Amino acid sequence: MASNTPDTPDTPDTPDTITLTAQCHCRSLAFTSSPIPRSFLPLKATNCHCNSCRHLTGSLRGSSDILWPGPPPPSSDLLKKYVFSPRLSIYFCGHCSTTLFWEDNSTPGTTNYLVFTGILNTVQPLNPGERLVEWEAHMFLSDTIDGGAVNWLNGLNGPGSPKPKRWLGWKDKSVQVNPQGIYPDFSSKVFLRYDENLLATEGEEGNIPVKCHCGGVSFFLGAGQGQRDFKERQARGEQLPWFVDPVTYKFLGTLDGCDDCRICSGVDLFAWTFAELKHIYFSDGKETLPTDTTKLKESTGKDPRLGTLALYASSEGVQRYHCGRCSAVVFYACESRPDMVDIAVGLLHAPESARAERVISWSWGGKLGFGTDMKGTWREHLAAMTEEETEQFRIARGFPKNFRRILKEQGASSAQAVPGGSGQV
Ligand SMILES: [Zn+2]
Ligand SMILES: [Zn+2]
Ligand SMILES: [Zn+2]
Repeated sequence: MASNTPDTPDTPDTPDTITLTAQCHCRSLAFTSSPIPRSFLPLKATNCHCNSCRHLTGSLRGSSDILWPGPPPPSSDLLKKYVFSPRLSIYFCGHCSTTLFWEDNSTPGTTNYLVFTGILNTVQPLNPGERLVEWEAHMFLSDTIDGGAVNWLNGLNGPGSPKPKRWLGWKDKSVQVNPQGIYPDFSSKVFLRYDENLLATEGEEGNIPVKCHCGGVSFFLGAGQGQRDFKERQARGEQLPWFVDPVTYKFLGTLDGCDDCRICSGVDLFAWTFAELKHIYFSDGKETLPTDTTKLKESTGKDPRLGTLALYASSEGVQRYHCGRCSAVVFYACESRPDMVDIAVGLLHAPESARAERVISWSWGGKLGFGTDMKGTWREHLAAMTEEETEQFRIARGFPKNFRRILKEQGASSAQAVPGGSGQV
């Protein structure tokens, strides 16, 4: 049931049951499950890495959900519905755009509701050793080409717990692939070298679409042009923006464990890249977006070229941009960084693959950005898992430590502040 007082559910608190809450970021919408016998735990979850889910949430991880053990979400003016496919719709908050539920009509005569795991919490604490969620599957890995986020989501269920199975398409209905090692295996030759970038591209080839599921938000990241611009600036002796790899000129990619990005996207663990607004173009590929965040804010809802882009001021001086029609997370902007935005990696349509490695220099290994937000919650193990598995993946790829990680590690040892934003070291 919808309630404005999510912390006081009207279900009894008994030692044998547990009650779930699902709440949007702005706290306008909150839902409470039926009491669940603890013997039913862990609840079975699925990750979908398909192109459509990545473009819907903005998360590189795609989507992640469990069957909602409670009443269907009641209608409300704020609860918006988006028809995702003939059989699936989603519900999201019309104010903050938090993705909340799937409505699944794929079985004739039955409607199931699934809740996004990123917004899931429990009213009662878990008992020692009890797990709330067990991810059973990673689906539609073939869409990612390079595996997307799957190579650092092997230990999702915690140490000693079963690994999620990996499927090229639907769970149980497609080909299952190696459950433990790197996906795809190195013989597939889809992986790029560390230094492969877009410096040598001409014209539109270096323009990477940034597009949500419904297409209402449709821009281009001038990644090739941006990388050339950074190289020229460096040659002139100018200082590069903090998010630019000074060797490959790629844009930094980070993983983010913060509560805000998790809740807004509905997906635990978010991925961002970063760009100057002057390198982001409208869909005509000619004119750039307003080049400072104040102008972008003022143009949103007015300039038709921004399409369905909408904003939610999540805190003082911070704007979270999303698609007002399909809910996708698009940008994060703040007034202290007026010429740039964070871009949701799940919206990039890079031809090479989901991780867009010609565009992005990923910071793997090291401390997860805001991983401490997970401390003391049912997600606590996710931070340690990500740190460990991204480091293993980096080493397996033969990549050096990313520039950002080196800088942060040096900063940590000399207690100097390192400029920048969210995400993994
Ligand atoms: Zn909300
Ligand atoms: Zn999907
Ligand atoms: Zn959209």
